[in-house]
Amino acid sequence: MSELNLILLGPPGAGKGTQAGRLSDDFGLPYIGTGDLLREHRREETELGREADSYMAKGQLVPDELVIAMILEKIADEGDDGFLLDGFPRTIGQADALGEEMDKRGRRLTAALLIEAPDEVVVERLSGRRQCSNGHLYHVSYDPPKHEGVCDQCGRPLTQRDDDRPEAIRERLAIYHDQTEPLKDYYDERGLLRRFDGTRDKVEVHDHIRATLATLRLEERL
Ligand code: AMP
Repeated sequence: MSELNLILLGPPGAGKGTQAGRLSDDFGLPYIGTGDLLREHRREETELGREADSYMAKGQLVPDELVIAMILEKIADEGDDGFLLDGFPRTIGQADALGEEMDKRGRRLTAALLIEAPDEVVVERLSGRRQCSNGHLYHVSYDPPKHEGVCDQCGRPLTQRDDDRPEAIRERLAIYHDQTEPLKDYYDERGLLRRFDGTRDKVEVHDHIRATLATLRLEERL
């Protein structure tokens, strides 16, 4: 079976994390979530975590050199037989670094999966989002836990991410439009971009992505 090397693109709150979890189960791919990795570094107060801290709290991007080193190392450790990247690349510099690394290893990306959602949907979803320290996600209106403030799955307290507060959401969206959106053209020009409507129900989005990946694999075999 050919390896799947996938990246997920899209604004914060489009549902990348949700789809990533499902796809990683479907295809047995290691999930490499940049935000999760950085939050872990912050929690453990590593040197990288300390450097990333103030950028993340404000909703700004952590500098390329820090993130690139962290992700390329992770791909080298866990992504030999394919990978699913969520939240990386987010800048042209990061995309170039990933492309160079893939070329060097004689590998190539299978697709860039773009999950789109308009700003007003993103703001509504992110401002109501709550999560536990194990990363289980809820929404105060659309997907509330059984007991307020407590994770159904592990009983841990639910909190709001500091970057899910209104000022940080606005900043993250502005940065997305400015720095990450150019990656749509970048991957489109390379024939890798596949688009999905993130305002649809998550099951529908998942079915659509799976169908697209199945077609890509068939095409590869022809
Ligand atoms: P996320 O969980 O993907 O929304 O990421 C949370 C935060 O981590 C972002 O707002 C950034 O501060 C930081 N971050 C995640 N991925 C990257 C990246 N590829 N480049 C720079 N900063 C990132």
